[in-house]
Amino acid sequence: MNKEQALNTIANLMATPNNTVVVTGAGISTEAGIPDFRGPNGIYRQLGEDKVMEVININAFRRDPEAFYRFYRESFQFPQVDPSPAHLQLAEWEKRGLVRAVVTQNIDNLHQRAGSKNVIPVHGTADRFLCTKKGCGKVFDTDFVKNTPGVVPYCPECGSVIKPDVVLFGESIHNYVQAQNTVMSASLLIVIGSSLTVFPLAEFVMAYSSMFQNLVIINKGLTAADHLALVKLDPDNTGEALREIDRRIMARK
Ligand code: NAD
Ligand code: ZN
Repeated sequence: MNKEQALNTIANLMATPNNTVVVTGAGISTEAGIPDFRGPNGIYRQLGEDKVMEVININAFRRDPEAFYRFYRESFQFPQVDPSPAHLQLAEWEKRGLVRAVVTQNIDNLHQRAGSKNVIPVHGTADRFLCTKKGCGKVFDTDFVKNTPGVVPYCPECGSVIKPDVVLFGESIHNYVQAQNTVMSASLLIVIGSSLTVFPLAEFVMAYSSMFQNLVIINKGLTAADHLALVKLDPDNTGEALREIDRRIMARK
């Protein structure tokens, strides 16, 4: 299937308001200016996957919060950017009833800022920090962490270490059941910008495709589920590809 046919097929599948669910990964945010992990400029390439996993790991965080925060402050604070055209298109499709929900591995909040209402984040949010003392419940923003004098930020209320509200290696994902049910109940599942190598979200997509055939993948480069997709689109620019799909949906009316 060439690109033209792929765009037409995706538009046809989406055109009847139905129950389309979109799963997104770091690749949807690269056009907004946030690098992915596994792309050519991602930290996995720069530092090595083992090194990254060693540090952004819940056990490492507990054992040595100072090493964790030194790394976090250097490599993990995302640039302040605006949502990309792809984020905006998904929000617009939701308003028009063409997308029911977005299940995302991203922690950048860009879907919400683009106006998507039904967003299910499974890896948390990078701009929120939580006190680690059970029952304290204090929540902090990025500015608080940036402005703390030392490397490790502590809760002013109880003195405990505070932790980014993101899922580290070794922790369970957020919204597991809701994400799984949302994916499994889709009549059309569209994956955008994920290599589908991070579990369990990748597992949900695999489970979906073992039962239903309506899987679309829009991703630069290979994913682990390309062979299972009804349509695989490898776009030069995802924002433009979604706009092209939208033009075709509109033209059918
Ligand atoms: P990934 O890094 O495994 O895969 C991203 C995929 O997107 C790659 O296959 C890449 O080729 C593709 N891609 C890059 N630019 C693209 C574009 N413009 N259009 C389409 N595809 C493009 O990402 P992942 O599977 O989401 O896993 C990475 C993990 O790291 C996630 O768990 C996530 O929580 C975290 N992460 C989040 C952010 C973010 O919030 N923006 C950024 C980096 C990493
Ligand atoms: Zn506290």
